[in-house]
Amino acid sequence: MEKNSGFATRQIHVGKVDIPGIAPLATPIFQTSTFEFDSTAQGARRFSGEENGYIYTRLGNPNIAKISEKLASLENAEAGMAMGSGMGAITTVMWTALHAGDHLLADDALYGCTFSYFTHGLTRYGVEVTLVNFEDLDAVKAAIRPNTKVFYFETPTNPNLKLIDIEAVAKLAHENCPDAKVIVDNTFATPYLQKPIELGADVVIHSATKYLNGHGDVIAGMAVGKADFITECSMFGLKDMTGAVLGPFEAYLIDRGLKTLDIRVQKHCDNAMKIARFLEGHPMVKRVIYPGLESHPRHELAKRQMKNGFGGIITFELNCDRERSAEFVNSLNLCTIAVSLGDAETLIEHPATMTHSTYTPEALEQAKIGESMLRLSVGLEDADDIIRDLDECLNRIEK
Ligand SMILES: *Cc1c(COP(=O)(O)O)cnc(C)c1O
Repeated sequence: MEKNSGFATRQIHVGKVDIPGIAPLATPIFQTSTFEFDSTAQGARRFSGEENGYIYTRLGNPNIAKISEKLASLENAEAGMAMGSGMGAITTVMWTALHAGDHLLADDALYGCTFSYFTHGLTRYGVEVTLVNFEDLDAVKAAIRPNTKVFYFETPTNPNLKLIDIEAVAKLAHENCPDAKVIVDNTFATPYLQKPIELGADVVIHSATKYLNGHGDVIAGMAVGKADFITECSMFGLKDMTGAVLGPFEAYLIDRGLKTLDIRVQKHCDNAMKIARFLEGHPMVKRVIYPGLESHPRHELAKRQMKNGFGGIITFELNCDRERSAEFVNSLNLCTIAVSLGDAETLIEHPATMTHSTYTPEALEQAKIGESMLRLSVGLEDADDIIRDLDECLNRIEK
């Protein structure tokens, strides 16, 4: 494969594992906890780093190495790593980047467990945490402290689909805090739509459970960034602090999912655009939030920052009370009531009582996460069928 190959070629070919004499097309699953040494001297050389080679799967495994190299290539980063869950990736990176006495500055709309880890977890270990709205650069600047070491955000945000200007935040952070890291959770966009490293971010995190795997059958997390920091995250954060190791079989499934990332995400985006327009035109729908709609407050930023499309997540509110809104969700047929996102199946959930139930009512209000918001993860079915399901159930509660 050429170095300057396109995205689709790289999502299929990067990280090929050569097995001389057998040459399988697909990488076999290296379902092993440990690797044999031919002598005590070789074992010592592997441990000292004098000789490259596998030792033990918590320290490295060919299936994990392959997807790590592949995602780094797709995100245009120097290096990557994989972990047992998205939360495993976030905790591994944060335990590596932060020390007691450091300050973490994060956006106020976060994945529910990330919110809980920052505000209830890290604070127990002497890390200062401030959440502000990262759309407001003056508020970010005003919240900077001499000990600010990490700027952390998602974009589009979960579940209210705010857009954060990655380039502007990275510039502000690096100008004011030269040794701080800008860390972006790119789960919602994927590198097919958005590459934070190219816009100045230092580290990109993924819940690979979502679009990267794409088939709703794996829990996994990944991170990419500069080689020296990723090595520290692997050899300290993952190896010693979290132990959040990804299984070789799960790594194999993610490798398989990544081969079709671009065509899957493109269809999620195309379907979502059609469904967002349909919802916007329905009298029972009070508000639709989707970065691809002209009505999105930061649609211009979306067009600049996201390529190829605006993602597969739509958030909307209905013109009715909570009870009838629940009736609507319960009556859906094709759309399945479930958390998670980025799967082939269309999924719908109620963030205030499900994914974001870790938030207090005050924190929900601060982050502008509405009590009545519904989050739709648009799947890969025919858009017309999803629209028919939504339409029938909206019409039923309208009566
Ligand atoms: C799901 C999710 C996570 C957590 O990932 P897990 O794989 O469930 O641990 C983190 N961030 C975002 C944006 C997510 O959607």
